[in-house]
Amino acid sequence: MARYRGSVCRLCRREGEKLFLKGDRCYTDKCAFERRNYAPGQQGQKRRRKQSDYGEQLREKQKVKRMYGLLERQFKNYYHRASRMKGVTGENLLGLLERRLDNVVFRLGFACNRAEARQFVLHRHFTVNGVRVNIPSYQVREGDAIEVREKSRSVAKIEQALSAVERRGLPAWLELDKEGFKGKITTLPSRQDITMPIREQLIVELYSK
Ligand code: SF4
Repeated sequence: MARYRGSVCRLCRREGEKLFLKGDRCYTDKCAFERRNYAPGQQGQKRRRKQSDYGEQLREKQKVKRMYGLLERQFKNYYHRASRMKGVTGENLLGLLERRLDNVVFRLGFACNRAEARQFVLHRHFTVNGVRVNIPSYQVREGDAIEVREKSRSVAKIEQALSAVERRGLPAWLELDKEGFKGKITTLPSRQDITMPIREQLIVELYSK
């Protein structure tokens, strides 16, 4: 499937906020957004115009889509799925995105960003409940155990990511056994667990037009 292959820092600058797409670098003063806090391109340094309602909705959708590293069609499918579920569509949407296996691998600290987590999953470094899974979009369930496979525990990038897990923090719905290279979904993520600044209502308004 096609992927965005351009500079990810450009995406942060485009959205006007830090999306933390690179990992450790995002927390340092090397962060491109800290150094050039304006939109990319020739017109980037001009003052941002006040956005229309549609513009705001579109930007919010683009931001979340980029945070989770998804393409438009995948993202829209999640929205349609969320709208068919019971409860609040926006919260359902974020819940589905958080439960993706690549996101869980990132959240548990086995990768320093979602793109890396996605690659690790594709390279079969993880098992879910003892079974090898190489599908980044796999939806985890409550009680699932995610483990780094025995022979993948020496992968330098996984060790490196784990060493910085404290700094990034572990969400309340996950449990990590750092020494055992495994984690558990103790409960499904609720809206309060998703602390990133997301206004999901704008996405729902955009798609329900
Ligand atoms: Fe965004 Fe991270 Fe790049 Fe900063 S370093 S601009 S937060 S991806």
